[in-house]
Amino acid sequence: MPSVTESPGPDAALGLDGLPVDPALIEEMAALDEASATSRHADLAARIEAANKAYYEADAPILTDAEYDQLFRRLVALEAAWPALVTPESPTQRVGAQLAGTFDEVRHRRPMLSLSNAFSHDELRAFDARVRRGLGLAAAPERAPELAYVAELKIDGLAITLRYERGRFVQGATRCDGTTGEDVTANLRTIRTVPARLNEPATLDARGEVFMPKAEFARINAEREEAGLPLYANPRNSGAGSLRQKDPAVTASRQLSTWTYQLLEEPEAGVGVSPVASQSAALDRLQDLGFAVNPNHEKGLDIEGVIAFTEAWREQRHDLPYETDGVVVKVDRFDQQERLGMVSRAPRWAIAYKFPPEQVETFLEDIVAYVGRTGTLTPVAHLRPSKVAGSTVARATLHNLDEVRRKDIRVGDWVVLQKAGDVIPEVVRSIPERRTGGEVEWSMPPACPVCNTAIVQDEGAVRHYCPNLACPARVAQEFGHFAGPGGMDIEGAGWHVLEQLLQRGLVRRRGDFYRLTVEDLESLERFARKSAENLYAAIQKARRRPLERIIAALGIPQVGWTTAIELAAWLAGEVAPGDDWLRRAATHLERIASEEPARFEEVEGIGPTVSAALAAWFGPDGPGRGVLEDLADAGVEVELPAPRTAAAAATGPLAGKTVVVTGSIEGFSREEAEDAVRAAGGKPAGSVSKKTDLVVAGPGAGSKLARAEALGITVLDAAAFRELVSHD
Ligand code: NAD
Repeated sequence: MPSVTESPGPDAALGLDGLPVDPALIEEMAALDEASATSRHADLAARIEAANKAYYEADAPILTDAEYDQLFRRLVALEAAWPALVTPESPTQRVGAQLAGTFDEVRHRRPMLSLSNAFSHDELRAFDARVRRGLGLAAAPERAPELAYVAELKIDGLAITLRYERGRFVQGATRCDGTTGEDVTANLRTIRTVPARLNEPATLDARGEVFMPKAEFARINAEREEAGLPLYANPRNSGAGSLRQKDPAVTASRQLSTWTYQLLEEPEAGVGVSPVASQSAALDRLQDLGFAVNPNHEKGLDIEGVIAFTEAWREQRHDLPYETDGVVVKVDRFDQQERLGMVSRAPRWAIAYKFPPEQVETFLEDIVAYVGRTGTLTPVAHLRPSKVAGSTVARATLHNLDEVRRKDIRVGDWVVLQKAGDVIPEVVRSIPERRTGGEVEWSMPPACPVCNTAIVQDEGAVRHYCPNLACPARVAQEFGHFAGPGGMDIEGAGWHVLEQLLQRGLVRRRGDFYRLTVEDLESLERFARKSAENLYAAIQKARRRPLERIIAALGIPQVGWTTAIELAAWLAGEVAPGDDWLRRAATHLERIASEEPARFEEVEGIGPTVSAALAAWFGPDGPGRGVLEDLADAGVEVELPAPRTAAAAATGPLAGKTVVVTGSIEGFSREEAEDAVRAAGGKPAGSVSKKTDLVVAGPGAGSKLARAEALGITVLDAAAFRELVSHD
């Protein structure tokens, strides 16, 4: 334990890095006696260390970021008041966490630092004042034309450094303690936005963030929930966990992406690289070299411009497909950065402004168990509607009974609500202080609320489920998925229609959708001749679908789009093209499931768990037995995927083309659109540059579309894109 020899520091209004810390907090700390200050320090440091370990090493945080930031601020204030407590081991002096020992070590050429934080606009102004002082410039509000800031979105991901030698990607590492990182090169190679080769033979380190898009986070957690696996807390932890995998195939199966924002380039004799002199030039150069650079940044700002930028993104960030937790402000000129230098763990020329956490308190009216596609019963909180992170929330999944118990959530409680990763409404905790005594503990219903079958919980498993394969709730969800946009995409086959089709027995098997007549449809409630004809036409249109879509539509547990695409490519190679392909493929799959199930592991990205799920589904007693055959009988037609070989890449309609997808493309998620580009021989890219051949744009396309138009690059809409990538 450090010994305290000094009384409260003379400069108690400033934190360690010279930034003002909440003066009230410093006052509180200064009022402590020496023994209490020392023990408070030990306690805060220990709690922060424990949180660091959980967050950085296990990718499973035990605190929210806001709670963590508050502890950290308290420690900074305590050390500002009692400077002698600062030791090199203090969390305020160190970056990240130690190496976990899973990967080889990489020593960083230059330390990878953290950033000082600002939580208010006044703290940003204080940062500006300090920068001006450091550079010998006049104090604000006087104009200082020689000083400009770049404001970038702070990406909530995992910091990485990418090493390129003569234009080739040779090594990639995580930050860890800032001096030494983990060698995750093989995993990084699976990420599309990490170029294997640059557009120039440059030697450099590029630094940035690996992140998981919100949609992928939601997809993975939904899969994990169905499979009864522990959920990831947010995209940041999900992304970090996905990158730090022993098996690069697992990383490859997750749709990770990157933004780079720092360039450390080594000029090479003879190559004629002109080293850039500012952050804004570095961002342009990174983009030209072929890296993904987040377009949402602004250059040439004074501090009020920076503040306006933070305000503009406070709400707008909820519409982004990835998570950002703040704005990073950087002094633009490198010579000025150098003059300002750094403090223990962060540069003096940059600061991270953190958006205020969005949590609200609301009333929990009820908890209701819903039956999912695979029978899992999920308790869902019915909440008094409240606005959080850009939308009104009235429902939040509580995942399972263990979670309800762990968080001690009772019907009638006041609870804290937030959105995990800005996406999924989450009940953080109950507020026991607001209890009045009338709250009721909740338990799982003993019987299925839909079909009354006794609920089962397997030994050692968390999930409760309805074991009845014919449970109407299960069937309805399976069929809803089959006909819905993630499946065969029958336009107009919504819940209202589906419910009636099932109730009246018009649809008993999936193939029955394709056996419906106009007359059948006309008999439905709220249907007339014209609407029946429209739905009938939509069904006919959805009769012919790409194989991966058909596979994804089946709703096989563990098989999402990524696996469906791989499975389709593999199956297309297994079963010879020709007549009656779907029926022959069905026989083939069912034979493998019963006779040699391990063969499913041949498929790229499929491990034992998914392989077992496939074998169980197509196996002798599996729910999928006969399903494909039924579809073949009903006249469903298959579009086989383009072969994935190098030869195919050379002949597909997008062969050799670099394609950027932006905005929402009707009928495709972002991943599906990019997979379609790849299947057609093209290379999806994250940002528009002179090297881009084609841009596919839909509603919501912003600066990329503008850039494409400025560069005169061909732009396709969803319909034209669909036309181009669908093939016979
Ligand atoms: P930080 O996240 O506050 O900021 C530094 C990091 O921001 C950089 O290392 C870089 O990786 C990243 N970054 C993102 N976009 C950037 C951009 N455009 N330019 C430059 N850098 C950019 O600091 P940190 O040291 O990485 O982590 C501390 C933070 O992590 C805490 O404030 C907290 O939010 C979170 N954390 C949470 C827990 C927890 O238990 N919940 C535990 C540890 C850390």
